[in-house]
Amino acid sequence: MTISSTEVHQKLKFFFGFDTFKGEQEQIITHIINGEDAFVLMPTGGGKSLCYQLPALCMEGTAIVISPLIALMKNQVDAIRGFVQNDEGIAHFLNSSLTKAQIQTVKDNLSKGVTKLLYVAPESLTKEETIAFLKKIKISLYAIDEAHCISEWGHDFRPEYRRIHEIIKRIGVAPIVALTATATPKVQSDIQKNLGMIDAKVFKSSFNRPNLFYEIRDKSNPKKDIIKFIKENTGKSGIIYCLSRKKVEELAALLNMNGIKALPYHAGLDPTTRSHNQDAFLMEQVDVIVATIAFGMGIDKPDVRFVIHYDIPKSLEGYYQETGRAGRDGAEGKCVAFYSYKDIQKLEKFMQGKPISEQEIGKQLLLDVVSYAETNQCRRKILLNYFGEDYLQDNCGSCDNCLSPKAQFDGKEQMHLVMELILSLKENFKAEYLSDILSGVSNSVIKSYNHHKHPLFAAGSNKGSRFWAAVIRQGLVLNLLDKDIERYGLISVTDEGKKFFNTPYTIMLTEDRSFVEGEDDDSDDAAISAKFSQQGGGAGDPVLLAMLKDVRKSVAKKANLPTWIVCQDQSLEDMSIMYPITLDELKNCQGVGEGKAKKFGKEFVSLIEKYVKENDIIRPDDFVLRTAANKSAVKVFIIQSIDRKMPFEDIARAKDMDMEELIEEIESIVSSGTRINIDYYLRQNLEEDRLLDIYDYFKEEAQSDSITDALRDLGPDYEEEEVRLVRIKFISELGN
Ligand code: ADP
Ligand code: MG
Repeated sequence: MTISSTEVHQKLKFFFGFDTFKGEQEQIITHIINGEDAFVLMPTGGGKSLCYQLPALCMEGTAIVISPLIALMKNQVDAIRGFVQNDEGIAHFLNSSLTKAQIQTVKDNLSKGVTKLLYVAPESLTKEETIAFLKKIKISLYAIDEAHCISEWGHDFRPEYRRIHEIIKRIGVAPIVALTATATPKVQSDIQKNLGMIDAKVFKSSFNRPNLFYEIRDKSNPKKDIIKFIKENTGKSGIIYCLSRKKVEELAALLNMNGIKALPYHAGLDPTTRSHNQDAFLMEQVDVIVATIAFGMGIDKPDVRFVIHYDIPKSLEGYYQETGRAGRDGAEGKCVAFYSYKDIQKLEKFMQGKPISEQEIGKQLLLDVVSYAETNQCRRKILLNYFGEDYLQDNCGSCDNCLSPKAQFDGKEQMHLVMELILSLKENFKAEYLSDILSGVSNSVIKSYNHHKHPLFAAGSNKGSRFWAAVIRQGLVLNLLDKDIERYGLISVTDEGKKFFNTPYTIMLTEDRSFVEGEDDDSDDAAISAKFSQQGGGAGDPVLLAMLKDVRKSVAKKANLPTWIVCQDQSLEDMSIMYPITLDELKNCQGVGEGKAKKFGKEFVSLIEKYVKENDIIRPDDFVLRTAANKSAVKVFIIQSIDRKMPFEDIARAKDMDMEELIEEIESIVSSGTRINIDYYLRQNLEEDRLLDIYDYFKEEAQSDSITDALRDLGPDYEEEEVRLVRIKFISELGN
């Protein structure tokens, strides 16, 4: 059958109401109607469905559309029925969700020849019964949607997809069209081989999405960053992807606590809730959907303005697909992903115990993700390159790296040093261990191997462990080093690496992409909530807040202390949001630790309890529970080190912080009520009378805990650092 351009345009208008084709749609459609095979590579949102739907509607017989997701199928069938009015039978789907009676209706329509499109799940297609039935009807074409599911190199491999070709041959010959948005050369050739369509014409559109902005952020405080980001983009629609259902739930609750309308979406929700949440997002009753990757396939919301990856995805294909859901209408689309190497390690753990071939693939996909995340090159270029496309511009102007370029250095010597260590330790250790040795950080494990006496111990102590970990990571990316996932991630030197080791050459490493290890990112929610509720116009309860302030005044008076020592505004604000009614719950509020809760807490919680009862307040249990913030590992380390009177410089170095960061941590420790004694450090670093001056100032004069005020009042003789240190002493002694 052939079709003219005029005709195919008429059909487009008639069936779908569109005036023009997108991209190469017309060529693809004409090609298929001519009876030829086609392989269509088009980014998400490019308009792949139409490429087989229109031919199916024009050609004689029924098109078999193989599609992986049951939910997606129903969606597509509804859409087609919507386009082509008054004929329910025109499109059907066949999958495990149908009843016997429903299946019979489908079969009747197929036999009568009214059905132009039949969507089948691969599981249903491979059933003998289905094959036998389909043999009897005329097939116009086979469309294999999401065809990357065929390839082990796709992010979504489905073994049943491997059998499609064999079954097609049994049902009967007709043109095959495979469609996917995953275009890496590996996946592409895999698909073509498997479907026996090596000679098919390949229609590949550019994968560049010029309107998308790509950014990778350090995952040190993702929740806070996300809330801030959304507040800066108020009213815009966005999707946040997390890897686990639990995280999805948590984050959605946290956003709501902070005045952001958000709903969760994941496979663990019952179908009604799920479709309700999806609709609420599509109809803009909520701005944000927090989802696992289950969300978004086939979802067509054109004005999604941001896609955030709370967790880094396990492949760049996944990343690209998910980010692709932003800005489908060609307008703004910001794509922000949070990256911490720890997440990569988590993903590696999931692979343990899987067949080796699968591990190898997974490992390679992850390496590509790491290299993308840590690169200092144009992200667009790397992405497109990954999909086998050259991007020739030097600066895309729309990714973080192009907007703020990062420094590189020749890492020849550093890489060589790393290898020297690896080889001298017989390739028997993990990256963290190696980094610690090089930076000269000793710990009990290192001592147990006597490696604190190794000749290379502290050979790179001018840099911290984090630096060395990054060198090792980049060595993995460059295929100079290898990591054995099955054996705890032991690092070895590859053949390529050995060549480098024998004759080192220049390798450019990234200087400043020092992604901090995400700490326990579950800890600081209460703090976030307080901060942002202030900015966002106060999610707190103003009446309660005023009452709490009165309580604070009276408590302070009784204890003969400044009010800000009793507790800070932010803590009160938090109480007015979370309504804690026990001392334990109170500790979830920012700035309220064990000590503070014990010392002053009772009056606050009994007021709140009374208030909650009298006003029938429903407390946000969820949030309170979830913010049960354990002290992060760093804080515990600092407290223990101070107990042991370790010099601050050493503490900071061990945690790769600078003095300023350390002081901030200590401030947050004491302001939440933990008592620590830093006299040993003050004695060594501060003259006695200066110390007393500052101390007296806080005791007698200060109206608040503001450092700015203190510096102003104390005059130019005093340095910020010493003032802050003394304030730490003061707060710790009086308040805690
Ligand atoms: P893909 O499967 O490639 O991700 P879809 O087939 O779901 O993309 O199409 C994405 C969107 O583009 C849909 O809303 C579809 O209706 C729309 N679309 C497809 N072709 C055209 C066209 N020729 N003109 C206008 N809109 C189109
Ligand atoms: Mg599609």
